[in-house]
Amino acid sequence: MKVQKFGGTSVGSPQRIRDVASLVSSFEGKNIIVVSAMSGTTNSLLEITSALEKGDKAKASELIDKLEAKYQDVVSELYVSSESKTKIQKIIDDIFSEIKELAKSSYSSKIEKAIVGKGEILSTNLLFHHMEEIGLKPALVSALDFMKTDENNEPDFPYIKSKLKEILSDLGDFDVIITQGFICLNHQGEIDNLLRGGSDYTASIIGAALKADEVDIWTDIDGMHNNDPRFVEETSPVHNLHFEEAAELAYFGAKILHPTCILPAKLHNIPVRLLNTMEPKAEGTLINNELAQGSIKAVAAKDNITAIKIKSSRMLLAYGFLKKVFEVFEKYRTPIDMIATSEVGVSLTIDDDTNLDSIISDLEKLGSVSLDRNMVIICVVGDLEWQNKGFEARALDALRNIPVRMISYGGSNYNISFLIDKANKTKALRLLSYHLF
Ligand code: ASP
Ligand code: MG
Repeated sequence: MKVQKFGGTSVGSPQRIRDVASLVSSFEGKNIIVVSAMSGTTNSLLEITSALEKGDKAKASELIDKLEAKYQDVVSELYVSSESKTKIQKIIDDIFSEIKELAKSSYSSKIEKAIVGKGEILSTNLLFHHMEEIGLKPALVSALDFMKTDENNEPDFPYIKSKLKEILSDLGDFDVIITQGFICLNHQGEIDNLLRGGSDYTASIIGAALKADEVDIWTDIDGMHNNDPRFVEETSPVHNLHFEEAAELAYFGAKILHPTCILPAKLHNIPVRLLNTMEPKAEGTLINNELAQGSIKAVAAKDNITAIKIKSSRMLLAYGFLKKVFEVFEKYRTPIDMIATSEVGVSLTIDDDTNLDSIISDLEKLGSVSLDRNMVIICVVGDLEWQNKGFEARALDALRNIPVRMISYGGSNYNISFLIDKANKTKALRLLSYHLF
């Protein structure tokens, strides 16, 4: 059994929904299909909740009507028989009535999550009824019946596993199971979600819970590329990646895969394959535990980085200084991406600058602080085990004419990161492609 996830653009229009159904019907075996909201819907739902947050109920209801009209168009275009149309119409009407009902209450994050979760409920219902109409035997399983997080907002694996097994054993005859990505219940049993882009995570959690043969992530590009095609011409797909390499790439900018997707798959050793709905026969990218010795795989960039330097003579020959620095970031729940230290200073980078002012004022108690904003992390990923000579030299050599603010190497066996000014990003990506691939 495979878990196959289709993202928002893959179900973004009636035609794309038809394409997914016909693709799914060509697969072997009984698989689980995880579906995102139609592209644009989650954003629209968030616009609605942000109007509610501002107390603007008129605006919220205007936005709900606009979204509802969009779904009316989808219904009239997607279904053929009047019987199917009537059936799905009733469901869509009910979902929108629920949204309108929720929008009557005053704003809370609970209301927000309940509204935002409707996107996936809409898309899975559309796909389910379309599949039924074309003669397939789909089963629609609500993610809220099995997907749950614990007190730490982590997937509650024992619960998910036992619920899924129970649900599967009770299903009658079916060709394929459809369920929602993204949405879940929290430990208090309230509707919650796995954060933006979380459908990849849903697929990987299900794959791990059921020990699936494979988790397939279907998108619009033929796998992970060796550089960012938006900035570099002639990139090519990388056919094999180790879990760790994929995690570095997903975290450092490769948009095709959500970084959280890797961990459950890696822990349970479930291969993840990135595939292209536009070109289903293309090889894509297979992510598993196998490492191609000594090869550089890909380059990725992460924008909007702030570098913070803390200089202190107290650091010289002292211990405990870094602990104090890290405690500041922990206090403000701000993750650190890169770090470089010398005997008298430490530089590190963050991408979430929500609490930057407080962070700086706390750090100033430890030493003098300076900032560089609008920076970019360029990361080179591959089997960069340190005994393999020359990789760091090749990467550095490619960037010889670009000012580099920080370098981080040796943190893992899979990554060298460079921090550069945003103005040099495209040039750096192109130079690395030219010199490394
Ligand atoms: N619909 C959610 C979002 O737009 C989840 C996903 O697409 O993966 O973030
Ligand atoms: Mg996505």
